Parts: sequence; C-alpha cells; structure tokens
Amino acid sequence: MIQLRTNNALETQAVAAALAESMRPRDLVLLVGEMGAGKTTFTQGFGHALGVTEHITSPTFVLMRSYDARLPLHHVDVYRLTQLQEVIDLGLVELLDEGGVALVEWGDVARPVLPRDFLEVRMAVDEIDDDVRNIVLEGSGSWTTRETSLAPLVEEWRYNSKTEGQQ
Ligand code: ADP
Ligand code: MG
Repeated sequence: MIQLRTNNALETQAVAAALAESMRPRDLVLLVGEMGAGKTTFTQGFGHALGVTEHITSPTFVLMRSYDARLPLHHVDVYRLTQLQEVIDLGLVELLDEGGVALVEWGDVARPVLPRDFLEVRMAVDEIDDDVRNIVLEGSGSWTTRETSLAPLVEEWRYNSKTEGQQ
C-alpha cells in the first residue's frame, strides 16, 4: 500500500501521469472514491501522459469512451450502472486483450466482473483541507509485486498518515 497526498488537481494529474509511464498493455486500474474525489481528474492526467490529445470527460452516460494513444485508453464510469451485466457487455476483457489499458471509475462496484489483476487507486477528499486528496495505491493479483515498483515514481507525493501525525 502506498499513501499519497496531493494539494490540487494538477498534482493529482501529475501523480496519474507518473503512474501512466509504468503501464503496460492489458493493465487495469480501478478508481475508487466518492463524487468529486478526483477520479476523472486523475484519468485526464493519465490519458495525457499516454498521449491522448482529446479532452477527457466523464463517460457517465455512455459508460465507456476509448481514446487512441501510445497505449489505447478505455475510460469506464460505472456510476449509473444498474446491472453488472452492462460491464460484461462492454467486453472490457476483450478490449484489454487487444493491448489497451483500462481505467474504471467506481471500480469497486464493478470488481466482481473484472479481472483479478488490477491496481486500485483510492481517493478521498481530506477532512481538513478540501483541496487536498488522500490517495492510496494498492495492487491485487500480479499488481501486488508491481506495486513496489511504483513507489519511486510517486515519491514526492508520499505521505505516511501514522508518522506525520506524530511529528
Ligand atoms: P470524480 O470523477 O471523482 O467525481 P472529478 O475529477 O470530476 O471527480 O472532480 C474533482 C474536482 O475536485 C475537480 O473540480 C478538481 O478540480 C477538484 N480538486 C481540487 N483539489 C483536487 C485534488 N487535489 N485532486 C483532484 N481534484 C481536485
Ligand atoms: Mg468522474
């Protein structure tokens, strides 16, 4: 588990961009957090780093948008999802098999029908400063070991909630 803290939207995009550099074909990232946590903001930074030139907006009503880039990016938002079958129907697994990368907003909701290897990015608005986001990175499956390699990429935003409080 890697804990980070960003002070504004640009920093969250910079974190996302740093992580995007380590992505490989077929990678899946689940974005978890309430409305306004910064999931779409994160995706914008991530997509930009992959070479997406279009402006990325929330695909809330269409469920998924795909962008051409160095690695094709599939941006999914399952907020309005009524049945998990809708996620299955997107054919995300097949799209990933074609060599793209997928980012899923509200990924925790769709987890039962998604592959077991993923990087989870949990984002929360700070209780004291509402421009601050507390972000936790946690890998599952093959990402458990890859998670370790992410730490140096996001070093400047690392934050340890346990030790910082004692200083
Ligand atoms: P979500 O997709 O999770 O609903 P958005 O990315 O659409 O969230 O919205 C996040 C909002 O919070 C944006 O208006 C963004 O500018 C603002 N914001 C303020 N501080 C931050 C931060 N540190 N990280 C990300 N977004 C931030
Ligand atoms: Mg969003």
